[in-house]
Amino acid sequence: MLTNSTDRLTNIQLYRRYLTGDSFALKRLKIRHAALYIFQNDSDELSNCDICQHPLSHYNENEIIFCDLCNLGVHQFCYKRDISLHIPEGDWFCLRCKTLLEDGLDSQMIRCMLCWDVEGSIIPLKKDGQWVHNTCVNWIKELYFEESSKARGGSSQSGMQNMATQECTMSGSQPEEEDFISGMSGIVVGKVGEEKLYGEECEYCRHQFGVCIKCDKEGCEAKFHVRCAIRNQLIRRFDRMHKPPREGSPIPIYCKEHDQDIIIDLTHIRDSKPQKPIKSLKLSSPYDIFPTLLDL
Ligand SMILES: [Zn+2]
Ligand SMILES: [Zn+2]
Ligand SMILES: [Zn+2]
Ligand SMILES: [Zn+2]
Ligand SMILES: [Zn+2]
Repeated sequence: MLTNSTDRLTNIQLYRRYLTGDSFALKRLKIRHAALYIFQNDSDELSNCDICQHPLSHYNENEIIFCDLCNLGVHQFCYKRDISLHIPEGDWFCLRCKTLLEDGLDSQMIRCMLCWDVEGSIIPLKKDGQWVHNTCVNWIKELYFEESSKARGGSSQSGMQNMATQECTMSGSQPEEEDFISGMSGIVVGKVGEEKLYGEECEYCRHQFGVCIKCDKEGCEAKFHVRCAIRNQLIRRFDRMHKPPREGSPIPIYCKEHDQDIIIDLTHIRDSKPQKPIKSLKLSSPYDIFPTLLDL
């Protein structure tokens, strides 16, 4: 059986080849790191920023940049760091992928310490070589990035929830406002107990490790990981989330069962599409009585 000579190369040897301009080496590395790949971003229509869940063109001069290894998409202002002010000219690798490549590591060797998942924007903490999802810190109520305590005067809301509140009250966001969701300090403030880290089973992936968040419906005990909530569309762009009960209080997150009133309400999807003229009601055949959803 024929095997490609690159199969025998180590990750670090492949990366060195890539640096000398061998584009095949990157293809090979992508196959090795397939576990990280975010398929959702393969089509422009579906691409979201992994941190704020908004699609392209959130606002001007804040492009979504895609990682050339894991296909992660992030707004420049949401991720900050090396893409904060510039769109990279060549390939761009998110911080996690850059580290994997430069150190020749396997995909599973960098995980979020809060959920053990490898998919999405994972950033390093200053402490103990640990890594976390921006989204895990931003949506777990007990935790926040250090800078967010400054941004919101030490209140107990998490970063994303604070950002959503700002989005509602401010027109046009400036880069500084997103400092507290990008985790630039590498310091997470707050505490979750051991029992929360290892003791709760996620409603959706059924794993028993990692911090779960709880459905905010009174009396519902459903618990799930932040990343599982994102995959199941329970955490999504702010304008499609449930409204906080009071101004300044956290955005509620509901399990699939209690989220239904928004999930099955299709009006917001229709409203966001370019409006087509309403069809004439003159019927030319009996089939026209049943317009499909797509025709509306
Ligand atoms: Zn974003
Ligand atoms: Zn990446
Ligand atoms: Zn996580
Ligand atoms: Zn889960
Ligand atoms: Zn529930």
